[in-house]
Amino acid sequence: MTTMESLIGLVNRIQRACTVLGDHGGADGGGALPTLWEALPSVAVIGGQSSGKSSVLESIVGRDFLPRGSGIVTRRPLVLQLHKTEEGQREYAEFLHLPRRKFTDFALVRKEIQDETDRMTGKTKQISPVPIHLSIYSPYVVNLTLIDLPGLTKVAVEGQPDTIVEDIENMVRSFVEKPNCIILAISPANQDIATSDAIKLAREVDPTGERTFGVLTKLDLMDQGTNALDVLEGRSYRLQHPWVGIVNRSQADINKNTDMIAARQKEREYFATSPDYAHLASKMGSEYLAKLLSRHLESVIRARIPSITSLINKTIDELESEMDHLGRPVAVDAGAQLYTILELCRAFDRIFKEHLDGGRPGGDRIYGIFDNQLPAALRKLPFDRYLSLQNVKKVVSQADGYQPHLIAPEQGYRRLIEGGLNYFRGPAEATVDAVHHVLKELVRKSVGETQELRRFPTLQAELAVAANEALERFREDSRKTALRLVDMESSYLTVEFFRRLPQEVEKGGNAAASTTDRYGEGHFRRIGSNISSYIGMVLETLKNSIPKSAVYCQVREARRSLLDHFYTQLGKKEGKDLAKLLDEDPALMEHRQQCAKRLELYKAARDEIDSVSWTR
Ligand code: GDP
Ligand code: MG
Repeated sequence: MTTMESLIGLVNRIQRACTVLGDHGGADGGGALPTLWEALPSVAVIGGQSSGKSSVLESIVGRDFLPRGSGIVTRRPLVLQLHKTEEGQREYAEFLHLPRRKFTDFALVRKEIQDETDRMTGKTKQISPVPIHLSIYSPYVVNLTLIDLPGLTKVAVEGQPDTIVEDIENMVRSFVEKPNCIILAISPANQDIATSDAIKLAREVDPTGERTFGVLTKLDLMDQGTNALDVLEGRSYRLQHPWVGIVNRSQADINKNTDMIAARQKEREYFATSPDYAHLASKMGSEYLAKLLSRHLESVIRARIPSITSLINKTIDELESEMDHLGRPVAVDAGAQLYTILELCRAFDRIFKEHLDGGRPGGDRIYGIFDNQLPAALRKLPFDRYLSLQNVKKVVSQADGYQPHLIAPEQGYRRLIEGGLNYFRGPAEATVDAVHHVLKELVRKSVGETQELRRFPTLQAELAVAANEALERFREDSRKTALRLVDMESSYLTVEFFRRLPQEVEKGGNAAASTTDRYGEGHFRRIGSNISSYIGMVLETLKNSIPKSAVYCQVREARRSLLDHFYTQLGKKEGKDLAKLLDEDPALMEHRQQCAKRLELYKAARDEIDSVSWTR
């Protein structure tokens, strides 16, 4: 393949791919994404009805396949892509709307174009702007994208809406006004060039004429004694590119089924033997027109490649950053889904641990509980009131019962201590709850901060529920342990402490005095103060052991096994339930799929361009 052919072939491939994505380049196309179509050149035929547009296209292609004839025959745009294949290969045609069906009989291609036109418009004289896409693969064509358009008319005929004249003109204009559309302006030689609809519209959309090729058909139908040299030699109407004269098959030829090869032969002979045009023969005819077009297309594409490449790269960048934003697609099989879920859980767990261990804020609040809240709560316990003289007396007497204690009020001591230690239950539970709330808050934060989870609202919610349930279990365990620490303090008193207390009995010496004192205020105050210092001792112990138990039961467990239970449940789930956990927002899923599809296309297009060899 020569470089030129591969270049045009490349453009054809990209353009076809765009069409698959519904990118028709018009208002109905692409949507938010820029359309490649607009960056790529194509060739469109315009002209009045029956000026010979379809005939010219056919002879450029070198195959009979287009509906031709008088009246309005072409009623939908036909986007025709020619692909040159290796010598000796069988030629065939393929419609985009009938993928994988290879047409080798070109009469059937013509029939399918008619049928497909009717499918859209009915068997009327109406027109439709929706193109039919047809590819032709043949060793006998050059790579080109051609567009056959309905002919421009002047009046609406029976069965057509009043707006048809305008409708057709607008539709044709929408194709040819694109700056990268090369215009084949077809004018019949047997009409005055000054009345040519094709030239009129071409001049309007391409005032400088740099992308307009003037084609003069029906040279053979000119009146005897007249010729088109003024036009063909650029004297009547100057165009940047030279005019090309054509002789297509007449209606009689068509009726006789004159084939293309014979028609070309006849055309060649016409120019070679024409007294008027023989000197121009090498620059006339449909074969020459095809070559001229290919050469022009090549230079246009060469000039456009940098901008196409940058458009593709820009779009790829945009799509990729959008894909990053949307996240990778969800796996389909259960194993991969489980893996994805576990990955997401781990991501969450990592963030949660960073909150606990530092790096992210929040974990320090647990230390705050132990360092401030717990000691403050302990300090606020109403031991002054509890160990008031009055209460001590009351509790000791109640413990004594009918017989006051003789030496030391053992029962009274026990009751007072037990009652006092009970006060520790409150701060112990409050500490457990406070730690619980900090952990819960950290879970909430971590769920929110796990970016990857945002796509999966169901999993996000279930993960949060599972983590909170785990925290609830840890709290219960921690509460029991902390209360047990308190209970342990009252179930067995530190003997040492009491042994070291000064023995009031022996100290007294005077039995009578000590007896009065035994039931006097000083006695109860001493009991109160002994108990107060015992409770103070226990308080110091609990101030240290309650944090230890809370860390052991809650913080450490949260670090270690917050999601263990959830993992066990996951392991028991069926594929269907796993998928449910990952069922992200369907709109998001759809959007990602579309992005991915486009990304693939654009990447393929880029690869194709990269693979083009730049040496001629
Ligand atoms: P379209 O409507 O512009 O697509 O024109 P067609 O290609 O369908 O041709 C219209 C009619 O003009 C057909 O009957 C053709 O045979 C005839 N025709 C087209 N070009 C020539 C030509 O160069 N010479 C002769 N004699 N007839 C032509
Ligand atoms: Mg036509």
